[in-house]
Amino acid sequence: MKKDPILPGSTIGCLGGGQLGRMFALAARRMGYRVHTVDPTPDSPTGQISDREFNVPFTDIATLIEFARSVDVVTYEFENIPVEALDALAPRVLLRPGRDVLYTTQNRLREKQFLQQNGFPITPFRVVQSEAELREAVAALGCPCVLKTSDFGYDGKGQQKIDYETDLADVWKRHAVYTGVLEAWVPFAAELSVVVARGQVLVEDEEHQAVAFPPTVNEHENHILATSVAPAPLADSILARAQSIAAAIAKELDVIGLLAVEFFLTKRGDLLVNELAPRPHNSGHYSFDACVTSQFEQQLRAVCGLPLGETRLLSPVLMRNLLGDVWANGTPDWSGLLALPGLRLHLYGKSAPRIGRKMGHYCVLSESMERAREIDAQTQKILGR
Ligand code: AMP
Repeated sequence: MKKDPILPGSTIGCLGGGQLGRMFALAARRMGYRVHTVDPTPDSPTGQISDREFNVPFTDIATLIEFARSVDVVTYEFENIPVEALDALAPRVLLRPGRDVLYTTQNRLREKQFLQQNGFPITPFRVVQSEAELREAVAALGCPCVLKTSDFGYDGKGQQKIDYETDLADVWKRHAVYTGVLEAWVPFAAELSVVVARGQVLVEDEEHQAVAFPPTVNEHENHILATSVAPAPLADSILARAQSIAAAIAKELDVIGLLAVEFFLTKRGDLLVNELAPRPHNSGHYSFDACVTSQFEQQLRAVCGLPLGETRLLSPVLMRNLLGDVWANGTPDWSGLLALPGLRLHLYGKSAPRIGRKMGHYCVLSESMERAREIDAQTQKILGR
């Protein structure tokens, strides 16, 4: 195995070829690293930036071993990698964050149990494996509540909100192939998230260096992130608490790399952890344009055993996702967008704009959040939203 620090000129392996890997690869290439990626689909967003693309399913263990031999450290940009693949990689190459981090966070139930067992604040939940258990759980938690699949859920996929009128037999019929997690509905005051990095470098001889990014306040549409803003318009004490909970979770999980933590802020001012992701996060995209060090460079520094960078926010910023919906009337008017002051456009190199598919995002950097919102409103008008 390669020894730390893994220096520029080395090759980083990235499991997953989406936009998170693409922006990671851009950061890595900028600092003189080479990147190899694994994704079943050729010409993936990450593959376009990589030196080498392995186009195989994550179940092709022989090719994954060849991939492992070709790189100095492996990281990942999405969670749904089969555990057999991780078990094949872990003894052969540095895998950061480690196998157990991914194993815990790729399943909603394991993640919630981990958080609960370690005393982190979470939404009340029940495990449901039959219609009878669903009925009991709904009675215990009250309505509204939300049934989620424990595996392979993201962006609201595999979720069903339940009210007193909902036909539970019908819900279970459609859901029955999965183990479900029923969660109480949180009438939150805000949703916020924090990306924290935890490095290999020790500080004060024993603690792994951990650095959090400024939290963002996030708004979702149809369960998909729409906008994130920083600085988050919330009390400093809440933001500091979110950062310290995120750092404590990263320590407990023994993450070397990034951990994104999504929270609900309740109307009483409590923070409840909704979800974890051991990778860069959509709500952290703003850091690419608006922080001294981006979440992608920070991931690189962490997995390479380098000192972590400063995460200071350089400007108020609003990030908005560009979904395939924006292409409904043909290619959007990019020239119109680029004429706006402070607007930074990111497109992920995906050719097929489908409804709900993340095709890109933009950040508006302005002297104030008010001004950033004005520019965002103009952008939305140009995009016909
Ligand atoms: P998730 O995939 O669990 O992150 O859910 C996607 C989005 O659905 C969240 O960001 C919330 O906006 C909403 N949501 C999910 N679970 C709950 C809940 N228990 N209470 C209120 N809103 C929720």
